[in-house]
Amino acid sequence: MPVKQAEFFVSNSDPAKCPKPDRPEYAFIGRSNVGKSSLINMLTSRSTLAKISGKPGKTQLINHFIIDNEWYLVDLPGYGYAQVSKTDREKFAALIDGYLTSRPNLLCTFVLVDSRIEPQKLDLDFMYNLGEKGLPFVVVFTKTEKLGPTKLQATLDAYRARLLETWEEVPEFFVTSAITAAGREDILAFIRPLNQAYKSEEK
Ligand code: GDP
Repeated sequence: MPVKQAEFFVSNSDPAKCPKPDRPEYAFIGRSNVGKSSLINMLTSRSTLAKISGKPGKTQLINHFIIDNEWYLVDLPGYGYAQVSKTDREKFAALIDGYLTSRPNLLCTFVLVDSRIEPQKLDLDFMYNLGEKGLPFVVVFTKTEKLGPTKLQATLDAYRARLLETWEEVPEFFVTSAITAAGREDILAFIRPLNQAYKSEEK
């Protein structure tokens, strides 16, 4: 079932000012240029909801979108932008960390990785930190239409192997493409039952 309604809600540079945690939310994060804005637009079937740009490092705010009047989709700042100063990088890290640890309604974080690039320490470290904090996450492989099935499988296997060096279980993987809309239904089908479970717990 596609998203019916998707609207920008609010942007913030202070986690404490994020909306009241009154509905389930899902955060999307990854290194700059991974394809996060494109994925958000693809998921919501809106071509301009999140701003796509060739320029990495532009999203430096926490952006809340409200989906079907039911859940928040949260666009987090991209990390690992080399041209940002150390002080700014630390500021972003604190912003992201402050957000992640202050949202009781955050049901899952979608960590985006570029399927064309071998597992990166920066991404693995980010996943490690989520795991350490006990925050549920899944891995979203972007731009997969660029790879043939063999190469794609090799990427998935490489990630699985790297994650198994640290963890006993591997989080769920989603294979996506903003060009072909691959993975859209899988991600929405993953979110729906979590929303349902959240609703029934609230009663
Ligand atoms: P963000 O910085 O993570 O928000 O990334 P963007 O969504 O702005 O995308 C960065 C670049 O990757 C842009 O040039 C996009 O057109 C391109 N891109 C994003 N998703 C895909 C995809 O699924 N396939 C391909 N081939 N290119 C993509």
